[in-house]
Amino acid sequence: MNAVLQLTGVTRVHGEGETAVQALRGISFAARPGELVAVMGPSGSGKSTLLTLAGGLDAPTSGTVAVEGVDLATLGTKGRARMRRTSVGYVFQDFNLIPALTAAENVALPRELDGERPGAARRAARAALDEVGIGHLWDRFPDHMSGGQQQRVAIARAIVGERRLILADEPTGALDTETGEEILRLLRARCDAGAAGVLVTHEARHAAWADRVVFLRDGVVVDESGADPVDVLLESGSR
Ligand code: ADP
Ligand code: MG
Repeated sequence: MNAVLQLTGVTRVHGEGETAVQALRGISFAARPGELVAVMGPSGSGKSTLLTLAGGLDAPTSGTVAVEGVDLATLGTKGRARMRRTSVGYVFQDFNLIPALTAAENVALPRELDGERPGAARRAARAALDEVGIGHLWDRFPDHMSGGQQQRVAIARAIVGERRLILADEPTGALDTETGEEILRLLRARCDAGAAGVLVTHEARHAAWADRVVFLRDGVVVDESGADPVDVLLESGSR
């Protein structure tokens, strides 16, 4: 099946000359429909760089990043922004909700920015909030929600409108264990429904929800396995 996300020979160098940092050194990576891929690796290994490139928030120094078969380099700024709003959902560790907007308004915002009518955008937002189990909190402001509830709003915002690629950068970092598991269950369900997911995590028990685990070190993929993630993690534990 065609990959929703395909990185081919991707390099990303930050800065120039002596201070240049090679964040990614020619990696290839794919996520297919229905697949949740976990990305693990030490701090500074390039995990967040990989995700920002995948989401079109940053461009590679060389190599290609394609989402749903479209090379992002062929899109202009507007095209990339549109792709981010319609195809890609991004979940951050610190939620990134807008405090002055209610839960439903936070979720509806990307749809409205994309030109959808406010009424339709609001209905899609309510459906997404229902899907993550907090439909009843639609008119709450983020400050009046728990961390777990806020992250569910962030997930609803990432999945609203049937987005095909969900990118999550340590989405459970700020949450307690139980709430973290809930968030993983939601990501897993969305992938089971056909989306492709990429989850950056440093927790083995979260990677265990994935179909595959990709290990990064110093900007290269050092291990990749289609095997049961649990086996991979047990092996890697001995390194
Ligand atoms: P991880 O998410 O695995 O911790 P990152 O992708 O954030 O790793 O960073 C990879 C490397 O690139 C690190 O050495 C980091 O310091 C560097 N880096 C990331 N973003 C920038 C940037 N905007 N400017 C300069 N260096 C950066
Ligand atoms: Mg990071």
